[in-house]
Amino acid sequence: MAAWPRSAGDEWSSPVTTPSWIGWRLAVRAASVVTLAAVVAGATHAAEKPAGVPAAAETAVHTADEVLARLIEGNDRFMDGETTHMNQPALRRTEVAKTQMPFATILCCDDSRVPPEVVFDRGLGDLFVVRTAGHVVDDAVLGSLEFGARELHIPLLVVMGHERCSTVKTVRELVTRGGQTPAEMARVVKSVRPAIVKTRHAKGDALDAAVRAHVELTVERLRKTPSLAGLVAQGRLKIVGARYDLDTGGVEVIVP
Ligand SMILES: [Zn+2]
Repeated sequence: MAAWPRSAGDEWSSPVTTPSWIGWRLAVRAASVVTLAAVVAGATHAAEKPAGVPAAAETAVHTADEVLARLIEGNDRFMDGETTHMNQPALRRTEVAKTQMPFATILCCDDSRVPPEVVFDRGLGDLFVVRTAGHVVDDAVLGSLEFGARELHIPLLVVMGHERCSTVKTVRELVTRGGQTPAEMARVVKSVRPAIVKTRHAKGDALDAAVRAHVELTVERLRKTPSLAGLVAQGRLKIVGARYDLDTGGVEVIVP
């Protein structure tokens, strides 16, 4: 079995920058508002809909940017305590029983506090979710991501880390302490270690710096993986990185 990533070059040595996500997120939200206002004049805003609404009243999303805006809208509802439980009624179950057309792929940690459908206020048939400890990627995960992009034609892949990630924390302690790595942790440690090394001299919250670096490096590696890189080059897939804040419930886009 080929080791991931299946790409040439040194993935870990490339510089990774962290652009300002705040201005970007505000821009996305503003664009989303304009789009909704222009296309659906007088339409009911999602946050004003009753609980458990089907998404049939929503405008369709096709591009990665439209999908991201929709995710941000849902996350805003979640942050504001105005969740609508979008696409969770029994009617929706009937709608998607025969086929699925999820609009976003989410690769994230399996932490019990970070369920994507809840965080983005979505329901049945909306999100194609792949979860592992520390959003570690192996061949099975990569195959799942490829399936979502190629077979389900999902235009956006979000790699989402989160605040106070127990997995990153554990790996950081193992790497810092040195010595023998438990066999059952070997794959996880190998995957997360580069982020630990990259941020070992970080000032301030070193764990959070490692969380962010792990997201950035994962996005970078996925973008270089040939099977996905081809789709990205064709404009059929966009890969972004995000960080979920356990305190606020907000999702920051840290790698646009
Ligand atoms: Zn985690």
